[in-house]
This record gives sequence, C-alpha cells and structure tokens, in this order.
Amino acid sequence: VKSEVEGKEILKGLDLTINKGEVHVIMGPNGAGKSTLASILVGHPKHELIGGDIIFDGEKINDLGVDERAKRGIFLSFQYPEEIPGLTVEDFLRTAKEAVTGEKQYINPEYAERHLNVGFSGGEKKKNEILQMAVLEPKLAILDETDSGLDIDATKIVFEGVQKLKTDDTALLIITHYDKVLDYLKPDFVHILMNGKIVKTGGKELVEEIEQNGYGKMKEELGL
Ligand code: ADP
Ligand code: MG
Repeated sequence: VKSEVEGKEILKGLDLTINKGEVHVIMGPNGAGKSTLASILVGHPKHELIGGDIIFDGEKINDLGVDERAKRGIFLSFQYPEEIPGLTVEDFLRTAKEAVTGEKQYINPEYAERHLNVGFSGGEKKKNEILQMAVLEPKLAILDETDSGLDIDATKIVFEGVQKLKTDDTALLIITHYDKVLDYLKPDFVHILMNGKIVKTGGKELVEEIEQNGYGKMKEELGL
C-alpha cells in the first residue's frame, strides 16, 4: 500500500500478508511509518490510502470506516491511549462489545475472570487496552508500542495477557522497540520497516540484531 497524511507520502509501497494465527513483529526507527501502518489498517480518517488494497478475510476493505472494520474484527491498541473521564471501563467495554456484535451485553462471569487474568485492578491504561481485546475477541489485533512506558511487571502482565488471548484464529501485529516482548510472544515473522517500506523480514534473530547494532548498520547493509 501507499498512503498520505497531510499531503505527505508516508507508506511507499508496503506489502504485508498476515495469516490466521500468526504473530508478526514490526520494528523500525522513529518516523518510519509504523503507526501509520496501524492507522491505515484500522481506517484512521487522517490517513489516505493512495495506492494498493487492504484485504481482510478475503474482502477489500479500503473504503470501510473505522467502525465497520472494528465490527469485522480489527482491533488497535493505540500508542497513546486517550483518557476519557467519566466513562468507566465496564461501560466502555459493554458499549464497544455491543457496537461490534450488535447484541446487548451482560458482563458474564467468564469475562469477569478474564478481566482478573489481565490485571483489571491495575488501572493502567494499557492493561485496559488488553482487557478490551479480551472482550472484543478480534481476528486481527494490532498493538502499537503497547510496551512503551510500562515497567517490567506491567509489561509481563500485558504480554502474558495477549499471549493468553491469542487463539489459532487470532492474528497479531506487534509494533515494538524492545526484545522483551519475545519473552512472552513467539513471533512467526519479524519485519523491519524503514522509510515507508518493509526492508527486511526474518525471525526473532532480527530483533536481537537490532538490539545490538541499531538501525544504522542494517541501513548500510541494505544500501538505504
Ligand atoms: P512511527 O510510528 O514509525 O514512529 P509514524 O507512522 O507515526 O512513525 O509517522 C511517520 C511519518 O508520518 C512521520 O514523519 C510523521 O511526522 C508523519 N505523520 C504521522 N501522522 C501524521 C499526522 N497526523 N499529520 C502529519 N504528519 C504525520
Ligand atoms: Mg509510532
């Protein structure tokens, strides 16, 4: 795909296929276009798709709005979750689930338990994001630097939560800067995104390579 924001081209021919049940990690320098990729997948109105197609479950979803995509099972945990005073987590979750399923929701004991499993009492915004994921049961969950700003214990809770929620039908797209997510999630593929494109794909050894050498050396090697 190619994309534009405020008249500026950001994604410049990015190609990615994620199959059911797979875990993909995306890494890349600041400003590479990682969050833009997440935005384009969920249909953020500020980002315009100017080339290519987004195919989800065999269907072209280029023109669908954010809510329609959410209904089909695309979930994004934002890099910077918004604070919404006055909206309790429970109400939010109930409303979100109703919007997605079209059914009235009663919080059942099974959910209550899953809440506890992912750390309901912590009050952390990002834990709540994972809680949303638990309730919405998305087919594709995109986590955009969910680990940033979390301490070690919170990271563990969040990613163990994600790992527990993952099923053979859930695809995960994890955007991160850190190798510690590998303690909890086993990626099938690791992609390096630079300058609006995926420039390298490999396994978890790529994460280690980046941790050790940074992006400069890889840029050189790839002639970028
Ligand atoms: P990353 O997540 O890889 O750090 P982003 O996808 O957030 O990078 O940003 C890629 C580029 O797009 C950056 O140069 C950024 O300034 C620009 N950009 C992203 N969102 C907007 C926006 N809403 N308005 C203007 N520029 C934007
Ligand atoms: Mg980002």
